[in-house]
Amino acid sequence: MTTHYILETEVKEKLSQMRRNPYWQEAPDGAFKEMEEVVGSRWITKEKVARQAYCGRGYGFEQYSYLGLSYPPCIIVLPASTEEVAKIVKICNKYNLPYLPMSSGWMITAFPRHRPDMVLIDLQRMWEWKIDRENMVATLGAGVRYGHHCQGCMEYDLWFINTGGGSASCVIANTINYGVSPLNYRMGNAERRALSLEWVTPEGEIAYSGSWTQGEEGFWGDGPGPNLMGMLRGLDSWNGGMGIVTRMSLKVFPFLENATKVLVPEGITPDTHLSFKDTDRIRWINFQLPDRKSMEECIIEASHTQIGAAWTKVPVFWRYIAIAKDKEDFWEKWSGVNKEDIDNFHLLRTLFVGYTSKKQMEYELKVCEDIMKKYGGKERRTRPSDESWIKNADANGMYMMTNSYISTLGGQESLRCVFETGKRLGDLLSRHYEECFLPQKGDVGWWQSNDFGHSAYLEFMLYQNADYWDPISPFFNPEIHEKGLKWAMEVVSDVSNDTGACNFFGAFHHGLLYKGPNWSNFQVWVDRFKNEFDPDRLSNPPAPYDPEEMIESLPHGMLTKIRSYIRRAKRG
Ligand SMILES: Cc1cc2nc3c(=O)[nH]c(=O)nc-3n(C[C@H](O)[C@H](O)[C@H](O)COP(=O)(O)OP(=O)(O)OC[C@H]3O[C@@H](n4cnc5c(N)ncnc54)[C@H](O)[C@@H]3O)c2cc1C
Repeated sequence: MTTHYILETEVKEKLSQMRRNPYWQEAPDGAFKEMEEVVGSRWITKEKVARQAYCGRGYGFEQYSYLGLSYPPCIIVLPASTEEVAKIVKICNKYNLPYLPMSSGWMITAFPRHRPDMVLIDLQRMWEWKIDRENMVATLGAGVRYGHHCQGCMEYDLWFINTGGGSASCVIANTINYGVSPLNYRMGNAERRALSLEWVTPEGEIAYSGSWTQGEEGFWGDGPGPNLMGMLRGLDSWNGGMGIVTRMSLKVFPFLENATKVLVPEGITPDTHLSFKDTDRIRWINFQLPDRKSMEECIIEASHTQIGAAWTKVPVFWRYIAIAKDKEDFWEKWSGVNKEDIDNFHLLRTLFVGYTSKKQMEYELKVCEDIMKKYGGKERRTRPSDESWIKNADANGMYMMTNSYISTLGGQESLRCVFETGKRLGDLLSRHYEECFLPQKGDVGWWQSNDFGHSAYLEFMLYQNADYWDPISPFFNPEIHEKGLKWAMEVVSDVSNDTGACNFFGAFHHGLLYKGPNWSNFQVWVDRFKNEFDPDRLSNPPAPYDPEEMIESLPHGMLTKIRSYIRRAKRG
């Protein structure tokens, strides 16, 4: 109790010290007036009520690791075109004002951190959406959200991935930072779906990539000379620290005929889904495998045969979320599950689609049957509907059991590597951390095959009630706070550095200075590009170095290992 009190006091004191800046800072009048001339008075404000509403939220992890570090922006401005964005960025450069782009604002890096003088550029008015049906290319603006994009594609019998973040998140922000879905198995990773882009550089110039450099339609992602896409998009990306992507063209893919008619939306929020009852050309099937080894070998072989539209293994407790009536029901059911049950539960979830014909799907199902015979896979009863991946409707259900969670690893590598990484994390969590978090009982996380098994994705999550790890909540628990940070920042970094599962949670999860040396020192390139394109560090500071700043502002004694490493690297 005493230790708890001292730590709690220390954290609170530290939080007040971190607010070393005044909370409110007014923008120079000249800057405001110049921006107002660009967008018109309706689309700009410096009113405190609006500014407070744009003060950092984020979800789960950010709620606890960034508390006390968020500030209201000094101006909020909503441009409607690329030219307006470029003009605003130039004004920020003229007045030496830091700025940041926001799309849907799911991520804390879409809000000002560490300083009160930032201009927030909200992109939600950038609403262009058009489709070239014949060449299967969509062109869209930065404000377009997945819900609209996926519905739009389906109206042309095309489809595209949707993310676990839900239909409200924006397609461009997601594609340049992450872009992961089980549907990447057939549609490929984000760097291959993204074609041409239009970019406002950190200094306010407009540049293009792909076939847009030639004044052509955005049908091609490449072109003569160096390709900007590689500089702007990576598995561990800029999070607003390298200017603003205002338009993009994306590859979209053939889907079912009359997709919007045969996939029927049903249910009442939060229990909504797309029903497959009117079509026999799409099916999710769950297969129970006898042991972990056969499940792993089975997904490798299935990926080689290139059948199916998705192959994924989900955390076992997700199944309990799916069947639970409410939070209490979840905990009742989940507490009856023990480690042995998890060790004996090996479920692969796979999607089949008859894109071209029913016959094509039947052929794939026959191949699947042969593979399942070989590995002892048994088909289980599976709901004929989709909640998550075609038009994501269940993102918020993920918070049901604990009201908050953090994704601590989003790793991309080979299937073999993600199996190993998941096992190590599952084992470490159950041995040393489980008493502080939702017990996962040794489960190996969520993984999926990407690009027909040429790569794979692993996500490992940590669940806890936000009230326990929020230092200003009356229920704050310093042990949970510290253990959560240690797990996310140090333990997961150490494991992924060792196994090679490159973590894409860059600018707010893992310190670049800590993991960079294991990844060809990519932080050196981050600095070189920053110095060249954003020498005054105005584009969303401190991204992509948020974790470094956040770790340094923690109370003394927390995360000592990573902290001393970062200090040495900075002196460097
Ligand atoms: C519960 C949950 C589950 C998720 N699951 C997945 C998943 O399965 N797969 C996946 O891929 N993602 C997932 N995400 C991430 C999610 O889809 C993000 O919301 C998305 O990637 C970012 O889009 P956004 O519109 O929220 O961007 P924002 O939060 O607005 O911005 C994200 C970052 O990009 C910058 N930015 C925004 N727009 C631009 C732009 N136009 N140009 C340059 N920089 C920009 C911002 O400054 C910020 O740093 C998940 C998120 C949550 C909360």
